Amino acid sequence: MEVKKKEKIKIKENNPCIQRIDERCIDCGVCLNTCNELVGLDRTKEEPENPLCLNCGQCVMSCPMGALKEKYDYKKVLNLTKDSSKLVSISLAPAVRVSLGEELGYEIGKDLENILPSILKAIGFDYVFDVTFGADVTVIEEACELIERLKKCGKLPMFTSCCPAWVKYARLFHRELELNMSTTKSPIGIQSTLIKTYFKEMNAIEEDIVSVVVAPCTAKKEEIKSTDTDYCITTRELAYMIKECKVDIPSLKHSNFDDLLGRGSKSARMFGRSGGVMEAALSTAYFFMTGKEPPKNMFHIEINSPITEASYKIADHIINVAIISGIKYVKDILPKLDKFDFIEVMSCEGGCIGGGGGPLVSRQDAQEIKEKRTIVLNSKETDINYSYQNPAILELYKSYLCRPSSEKARELLHTKKNR
Ligand code: SF4
Ligand code: SF4
Ligand code: SF4
Repeated sequence: MEVKKKEKIKIKENNPCIQRIDERCIDCGVCLNTCNELVGLDRTKEEPENPLCLNCGQCVMSCPMGALKEKYDYKKVLNLTKDSSKLVSISLAPAVRVSLGEELGYEIGKDLENILPSILKAIGFDYVFDVTFGADVTVIEEACELIERLKKCGKLPMFTSCCPAWVKYARLFHRELELNMSTTKSPIGIQSTLIKTYFKEMNAIEEDIVSVVVAPCTAKKEEIKSTDTDYCITTRELAYMIKECKVDIPSLKHSNFDDLLGRGSKSARMFGRSGGVMEAALSTAYFFMTGKEPPKNMFHIEINSPITEASYKIADHIINVAIISGIKYVKDILPKLDKFDFIEVMSCEGGCIGGGGGPLVSRQDAQEIKEKRTIVLNSKETDINYSYQNPAILELYKSYLCRPSSEKARELLHTKKNR
């Protein structure tokens, strides 16, 4: 019996994030269903030559034949590690450490933070950094941006802008929100700018400095085109790389990330899950506005539904916030934007721990797996709780950026100067 072909998602040849291997495709239509149901795109506005796509990679997660893939960059990166003239650094986003293990045979949620630097050095990377450092800078700048908008009657609500699928969604469907978007660069954008600045100051030749980022995200492959990051590979690509290099993990000793730039705080680690950016930014805003430490867990929000609302009193301001976990729920908040001062949007449900560049999991198992990864992300204790306490960040501002939101900080760490 001939099986009827179903409509599938259209992918542009030059899409920098995802691709389809046509020989594997059985025209089952699952990808289009996923895009409709999970992402909620209105494809009636789609032109045949210009398919609507946020590059979120959720269709890749659902394809039963493995026909959809991220656009591979890891082989180019591997070649660079073999070029002795290049200074190649790799920076790991928070969610990678609690999801990569599944691809390597460890239990779900296994935290590989202590062994990943040794694995990556064994492959040939010169430096292994933690994106939590860049995330701490994002927090400081975003908190200052929020305070400035509150005090100077700037455009509110301010939206987080570190999720490129959300930024693309807003650009495609809601251009009227342009001034509501935070201008602060995402953690990987800031991380690469700081890495390149650091090595240039150490007299490295600019063309020889390569900044690679690993993210649980396919959409970041497009985002990096406007940043100092040279390559972004997904968590899955990192697993392929480790397997192809036949790294003998059990023989390696534990080690730490390189700390030329410094370490990241616990709140930066929370960027990996929905609610984490909001929690980190409000904690730092509280300190800047009151001069006091925020009461423990004051801004911790359990995310149990796609839209979570909360209200806080900080100094003389009542700050109303919302967290959107899943891009299709954005439309539900739009009619009541006036109620809010600050809104976090993560395209993938649960945030980056459910990103389209992570290990492939079935939709039935996805929720339980994301919860396990979140618990591990939340549970790690460090001696630096908040971004504003991070001594390396304080030193960076003192010795180089002058102060948060300074002219230099705006030039290097923001997408545009005026808000
Ligand atoms: S889900 Fe995969 S196999 Fe099915 S139509 Fe889409 S690309 Fe083809
Ligand atoms: S990457 Fe995301 S937005 Fe693009 S087709 Fe796939 S599910 Fe839809
Ligand atoms: S939620 Fe995270 S993984 Fe998903 S698209 Fe946004 S940045 Fe990428």
